[in-house]
Amino acid sequence: MTPVPVAELRSRLLGWYDASRRDLPWRAAPGTLGDPYRVWLSEVMLQQTRVETVKPYFERWLERFPTLETLSEAPRDDVLKAWEGLGYYSRARNFHRAVSEVVERYGGRVPDEADSFRALPGVGRYTAGAVLSIAFGRNEPVVDGNVRRVFARLLDRAEPAEAELWSLAERLVEGDRPGDLNQALMELGAIVCTPRSPSCDACPVTVMCAAHAAGTQPERPARRKRAPLPLEEHAVAVVRHGEELLLVRRPDEGRLGGMWEFPGAVMRAGETLEDGAARAAAEWTGMRIAGLRSLGTVEHVFTHVRVSYRAVLAELAAEPLQPRAGIRWVVRDRLEELALPRAQQRIAGLFFG
Ligand code: SF4
Repeated sequence: MTPVPVAELRSRLLGWYDASRRDLPWRAAPGTLGDPYRVWLSEVMLQQTRVETVKPYFERWLERFPTLETLSEAPRDDVLKAWEGLGYYSRARNFHRAVSEVVERYGGRVPDEADSFRALPGVGRYTAGAVLSIAFGRNEPVVDGNVRRVFARLLDRAEPAEAELWSLAERLVEGDRPGDLNQALMELGAIVCTPRSPSCDACPVTVMCAAHAAGTQPERPARRKRAPLPLEEHAVAVVRHGEELLLVRRPDEGRLGGMWEFPGAVMRAGETLEDGAARAAAEWTGMRIAGLRSLGTVEHVFTHVRVSYRAVLAELAAEPLQPRAGIRWVVRDRLEELALPRAQQRIAGLFFG
C-alpha cells in the first residue's frame, strides 16, 4: 500500500503540465490525442537518448519517411542510415519490422489494443503504455527512469520494487487524459525532479513528497552500482585498393546488426595486431592483405562492453575478389551513403585525417 493520495497527485500533475509543458515536435496540444506514428517514433528514439539529440533526427526522419507505408517500403539500409548516430540500432531495426507488420497485418493502422501492440517487435510494456495512452487515450501506465525517480522520492524509497512502481502508475493513470497524465509524470522527472539537484521549490507535488519532507531527495532512489564494463580489443583492417576502401555489412542480428564497418575481429590471446587484422579481412571477405601499418585506436562504449578498435592500414596481397552481398569497395565520397556506426566513422577519420 502506498500513502500517496492519487486523486490529488493527478490533479496537481495535470495542472502543472498544462502550464509548464515543453513544446516538443511530437506533442499534440493538451487534451488532444497524438498521431500514433509520431508518438511511437518519438518514444523509440527517446529511449536512452536526450530530447535535444532526438529533435533533429525526428524531423529528418519524418521528411524521409512521412508515413508508416513509406517506412515499411524503405530498404533497411536507408532506415539504418537515417538512424546513424543515434546508437542502439536494434531500436531502428525493430521499429522498421514492427511498422512493416502494422502495414501488412493491420492495413497501416497502429493497433490500439495492448496485447496486439505489445506483440510487435521491440515493443515492451513502457512503449506500449506511452503510445496507447498518448495516441489512443487508453488508461495504460508508464514507468521509465524519470517516473521511477519521481515515485521513489514521493514514497521516500531507496529501492522501490518494480511491481510497486507499476501498481502506482496503474492507479494514477485511471481517469481522463491518461496520455497527458503520463507525459506530466515523465516531464516532471525530466525537468524538475532531476537526478542530482531536484527543483523542489518549483515542484507541483512538494506537499505530498515524503523524500522532500525527510530531506532525502538526493539519495532517492539509491544509485544502482554498476560493475565495470568488460573490455574487448578489436583488430580492424582498413583495406585500400586504389581510391577505394573495403567495407563489410554486419549480420542482421546482434550488436550493430545490418550496419557497415571495416573488417574487424576480437583479438585472440597472444595474437599480434597485424595477424588479427589479416584474420578479420580473411574471415569477412576471403581476401588476403599485406603491407600493414598502424593507423591508431578508437575507443567506444556500448551498453555492456567497452571496445578498443585498433586499426591498421593494409593493401591487398592479390587481386580483389568479385564484390558480393555484404561486401563493398567504396570511394571516400560514397562512404557517407552507407550506415556507418560512429566508431567506424572515427576509424575512417584516422585514415582521411
Ligand atoms: Fe522531486 Fe522535490 Fe518534487 Fe519531491 S518535491 S517530487 S524530490 S522535485
